[in-house]
Amino acid sequence: MKPQCPKCGTDFVQRIRPDGILEPLAGLLFIHPFRCQLCTHRFRAFLPGVAALSQKVDRRQYVRFSARFPVTFSGDSGPGQGAVMDVTMGGCALESDATLMPSMVLKLKLHIAEHALPVEVEAAVVRSVRSKIVGLEFARFALQEKYRLTQYVAGLVSAHRKE
Ligand SMILES: [Zn+2]
Repeated sequence: MKPQCPKCGTDFVQRIRPDGILEPLAGLLFIHPFRCQLCTHRFRAFLPGVAALSQKVDRRQYVRFSARFPVTFSGDSGPGQGAVMDVTMGGCALESDATLMPSMVLKLKLHIAEHALPVEVEAAVVRSVRSKIVGLEFARFALQEKYRLTQYVAGLVSAHRKE
């Protein structure tokens, strides 16, 4: 059993690592931190005994879903393009030939559908570069763009759950 996000109501939430000094202590009382996978809200919920033990804590804050769509971007090193390999509301993994370095900031256009405008991410930070795979963290997007990406990720979730 998983708690629901108090902000948007989805049960697509992920238990995350406790922060600071008090949260690990709260864990002893079965109060655990969670990250909503759709609206990105962080919250704490009461999850008694056995349920808490059976749900493992992931180091990552978001569950990744594989997805494949083109991305175009611009940044300090000029324009570039690539293909998304997986995506969450917190970021994505990108396959690209561009020369990118950790902590570079990019403006992204996610071409999630052929006949729709791309979702724009105003600022995405390069977190890792391993051969041609670039890990990006979404730092800022306009509200309506975030909403459109939420719809897209929610679609991936429901497709995944039907499998
Ligand atoms: Zn939520």
